[in-house]
Amino acid sequence: MKTIRQWKEEVQRQKKSSPAAASSTSASNGNGSSNNNNNSSTPTNTTNVVGQQKKFVANGPRNAKNDGVKTDLYENRTRNGVIQALYNGLCIDSEHPPNVLLKLAKEIEAEVFHAEKFDTSSNTKYAQRLRSLTSNLRQKNNPELRNKINNGDLLPKVFINMSPREMAPESLKKELEEIKKKNLFNAQGATQERAVTDRFTCGKCKEKKVSYYQLQTRSADEPLTTFCTCENCGNRWKFS
Ligand SMILES: [Zn+2]
Repeated sequence: MKTIRQWKEEVQRQKKSSPAAASSTSASNGNGSSNNNNNSSTPTNTTNVVGQQKKFVANGPRNAKNDGVKTDLYENRTRNGVIQALYNGLCIDSEHPPNVLLKLAKEIEAEVFHAEKFDTSSNTKYAQRLRSLTSNLRQKNNPELRNKINNGDLLPKVFINMSPREMAPESLKKELEEIKKKNLFNAQGATQERAVTDRFTCGKCKEKKVSYYQLQTRSADEPLTTFCTCENCGNRWKFS
């Protein structure tokens, strides 16, 4: 399974190969931590009731340790470690109380635990899936994913089956869609527009009246293929 980071790199590569998209926006939403509650002088974490929702105000960066949360729920160290990692992802910039987040972390782990055959000696699939989920949860630019889970809009059983693409922040999804569209447009434009040039010499008749067009034939990060046709003798060839 690909992580968001890998996918982002892929987006960057596609950008480079798509000149029209080169000046596109840099995806940066949510760069700051929400420390707008630090004017409080209370040294300990507090839980305020705002409306019907309990709002957790953390004193410093949140994680299981700082929140005073015990993640040793099972006899199994691997499972406990996973729950802690999930908790540490879910709590980033969150205002949800620890008990809510711990319950979610427990549910997510349990869903994967039941979906994959857990085996302490070779827990590869279990570990792989959870590594992917955790790394997506921890993405700085993806508070949407955390919020959806923490607010109950995205259920653990649905979350564990999501692809990295589905977990990606909306901004990144839009960016990729735009690049896709542009690449498609460029490719179509290239097939319709044939340019005649004297840059190429026909190997058969040695004339320099060659029309050509360029096309992205394989993946977007590979060089363009140039298709040539000699306007004199009809000889065709290609190179990339
Ligand atoms: Zn020719």
